[in-house]
This record gives sequence, C-alpha cells and structure tokens, in this order.
Amino acid sequence: MVSTAGADREEVIRVRCPFCHNADSRVIDSREADEGATTRRRRSCPQCGRRFTTVEEAVLAVVKRSGVSEPFNRAKVVAGVRRACQGRPVDEDQLALLAQQVEDTIRASGAAEVPSHEVGLAILGPLRELDEVAYLRFASVYRAFTSLEDFEKEITELRTRYVAAGTPLLPGMQPDPPAVRRRGGSRSAGPGT
Ligand SMILES: [Zn+2]
Repeated sequence: MVSTAGADREEVIRVRCPFCHNADSRVIDSREADEGATTRRRRSCPQCGRRFTTVEEAVLAVVKRSGVSEPFNRAKVVAGVRRACQGRPVDEDQLALLAQQVEDTIRASGAAEVPSHEVGLAILGPLRELDEVAYLRFASVYRAFTSLEDFEKEITELRTRYVAAGTPLLPGMQPDPPAVRRRGGSRSAGPGT
C-alpha cells in the first residue's frame, strides 16, 4: 500500500531518469522555492549515475461547467484577457502580472479545485483596475450582458467607484467640452477698450 499523504512519504514518487530511462532515481537534495509553492529536488540515477533536478508544484485544478477539470493555466487567463484588451494600452507585462494576481487570489482561497467561473470572478477585479474598457468587454461576455441596461448599470458602478474613491475622472470619462468655433475676432479678449 502506497500512501502519498505526509511529507515523509514523498520519495515514494518514482521519477524516471531522463538520460538512461531507468525507472527510478534517488533524491539527494530537496528544497522549497517560490515561497514554498514549488519543491526542487536534486536527483541521482542509480543506473547511470547522472544527476538532474525536478520541480514539483501543487496542481490547482479548474473544474469546467461540463465537470471536466484541468490544471489552472496562467497562459489561458492571459489569452482571455488579451482578447478583451485589443486596441487598449495594455502591455504583455501587465497581462502577466494580472494572471499572477488571479492565480494568487485563487490559491489564497486554499482550495485545490475551483470552478471555472471563480477564475472569471478573480479576473474582474484586477482587470477593472487595469483598463475600464477591457473590463467592460470582459464583463459583458463573462456575465452575459444581454442589454444596453446591463452596460449602463456597469458603467454607473464604475463611475460611482471613481467618485467614492475621490479619484478624478479619467479623460475618457468626462463629457467633451462643447466644440466652439470662433469666427473672426469680434469678441477677442485682448485689451482694446
Ligand atoms: Zn540514468
């Protein structure tokens, strides 16, 4: 009987030698990395004597509506958000950071498995901070907006947040000043009286 519970049993996991394909290898050193999120193990092959390193990471599973689960994938978050950011001033570094924030949020919940809609939820917050237009696009798909009223409500909430936070409205959120064309110089402000 093989138990995988408990850290003292982890050497039960057999790792094939990548050089000679011997079915097992010996752990010679083990250390945590990325603040404990991953474990690096230095291994040695008893057959050919060569050494190699493996990295273990706890799998965070995302369960889709169909019931199928797959490992959480930051690249998928980036791909989904990138689509919403088309034509917006958002760069790849910001997308990568957002995906990292999403993963941190989900991992912080402590669950080993999360439904896929929670991934969407975790995207909304940081995306709203990043770009309101991309946020609206993403939210409209994610929350299945069906009418203009849905957009209006969301935009009203965005505006309310700005007012509540005491942040000045962004240029795009202010009404344009009326375009006044002055012809001639009849009402020039110059001194001439
Ligand atoms: Zn080997």
